[in-house]
Amino acid sequence: MGLALEQARAAMAQGEVPVGAVVVCDGQVVAVGHNCPVGGHDPSAHAEMQALRAAAKALGNYRLPDCELYVTLEPCVMCAGAIMHARIKRVVYGAADPKTGACGSVVDLFAEPRLNHHAEVLGGVMRDDCVGVLQAFFSERRAAAKARRLSAGAEIVDNTPPTSSSGSSIDADQAS
Ligand SMILES: [Zn+2]
Repeated sequence: MGLALEQARAAMAQGEVPVGAVVVCDGQVVAVGHNCPVGGHDPSAHAEMQALRAAAKALGNYRLPDCELYVTLEPCVMCAGAIMHARIKRVVYGAADPKTGACGSVVDLFAEPRLNHHAEVLGGVMRDDCVGVLQAFFSERRAAAKARRLSAGAEIVDNTPPTSSSGSSIDADQAS
């Protein structure tokens, strides 16, 4: 999971939501991947997809039944689907994702008896570190957005015409 976190930080360095994944086979790291849908103009470029593609290529097999996938964030529906197609043996994730998590947070595809493959799933591993890297990314992004709003607001204030001086004209009328 430490290696997956390194991948998450690599995603963050590229301005992507920091999620990292690692595929391990018989105790050996086969492939790594990090989230890069923005830079790659690819909605499917989640960390898990990148790592699964690289692992399948490295092993010369689209099925990865002896492999485990470590990922810093709970897989989404798309990635859970790819994990099933790859026949991954076990999924280990860090942070739960209450918005798109498909391992129990929103839906639990791995517990769905009508689907034909069920990887073993373990969540919450190094959870605090995995949540921390995401929180750092989003708080940085919120701060940048706030700075942009403030600088846009400053420009509007600069362009505001001076307030009318009706009061002084009344004074002038009274004086005449
Ligand atoms: Zn995903």
